Amino acid sequence: MLLIKNAFVVELDEITNILIEDGKIKKIGEFDTHKDCEIIDAKGLFVMPSFSDSHFHLRNPGQEYKQTYMEANDACVKGGYTDVIALANTNPVVDRAELINEVQENTNQLSLDVYQVSSVTKGLNGKDLVDFDGLVKHTMIFSDDGKNVDDIDVMKEALEKSEELGFIIMDHSEPESEMVIRNIELVKEVGGNLHFCHISKKESIEALTKAKDEGVGITFEVTPHHLFSTDLDYRVNPPIATKEDVKALINAIKAGYVDSIGSDHAPHSDEDKKNGSPGIINIESAYSMVRKVFYENGIDMKTLIKLMSKWPAKLVGKERGIFEGSLADIVIVSDEEYKINKNGFVTRSKNTPFHGMDVRGKVLMTIAKGEIVYDNGELAKESDREKSSLCGA
Ligand SMILES: [Zn+2]
Repeated sequence: MLLIKNAFVVELDEITNILIEDGKIKKIGEFDTHKDCEIIDAKGLFVMPSFSDSHFHLRNPGQEYKQTYMEANDACVKGGYTDVIALANTNPVVDRAELINEVQENTNQLSLDVYQVSSVTKGLNGKDLVDFDGLVKHTMIFSDDGKNVDDIDVMKEALEKSEELGFIIMDHSEPESEMVIRNIELVKEVGGNLHFCHISKKESIEALTKAKDEGVGITFEVTPHHLFSTDLDYRVNPPIATKEDVKALINAIKAGYVDSIGSDHAPHSDEDKKNGSPGIINIESAYSMVRKVFYENGIDMKTLIKLMSKWPAKLVGKERGIFEGSLADIVIVSDEEYKINKNGFVTRSKNTPFHGMDVRGKVLMTIAKGEIVYDNGELAKESDREKSSLCGA
């Protein structure tokens, strides 16, 4: 058993204690019976449901030189994440059941839950659709992320299949606003379940919010790096936005239009980066980047929980939250300021332009299904004597 005491539970707006047993939150409140368990003092800290990433590049199968399974696991739990949606632009591209199974087999021993996506077209070729009917037994999310589906008839047919079978398409629109507008029109025409990835432009936001106001059933994601920085020369797709774009993203979050924050964590070797591969490693600092932006713009922590935890978790069928009976997937964070240090990242790739930049809020502990899977060593543990008087059920 595990007891987190004196925690400020963001969702409940109160300081209380959380008792964890058998992987679940057993009780919230005051306890006075006597049973031995581990006690964590979370005084002065925020306690929230752990994060869930709607957009993660696992880099496997085939690209262990960018990031291994184990590094992905360690980087995620260090960043406060206990599950990720892994995109399909690997080598080979995940476009068939055996590859989804391979990833599941290679990740089922990890603390991290990996939900593997299939591509929409075979080998991301933009032409030949994957076997949706067969694949929906293995995944309910499909994405050609990394590439736009240029062919309008291919996109239309994929949307029709998503409507028929109930799966979600995660769309990488490029050029962004032009393709966002095209794809909204396609959804209006044929239906389907479309989630737009990494939205970064004011024009895209205008089109998406208008579509939502009209009742078009689309959803969309923004990323930590597009919120965190402007006018920066670093290769990422879509590019780092302008001040005006970022203002539009923030306003859309404030107005409740944005569904998720996906890290788009994209590790690359130095050599691949030199050769122009787009992407930033984000997962270990995503929370701190978002917290800083939210703090400076007066956006509350509950909105952060919705975008970084609850909504993306629901995509993979998990109800996340701090309540009695819920899975004990929990993150404990401080609100201190610190500087990003890429040399401290556990993933081997170091592609980030944010080294040395100020952020806010440090992940101190991550708990997955009741087990402590990350502990940075700063949290106070109680003495045995105090244990016996506080713990129990
Ligand atoms: Zn993308």
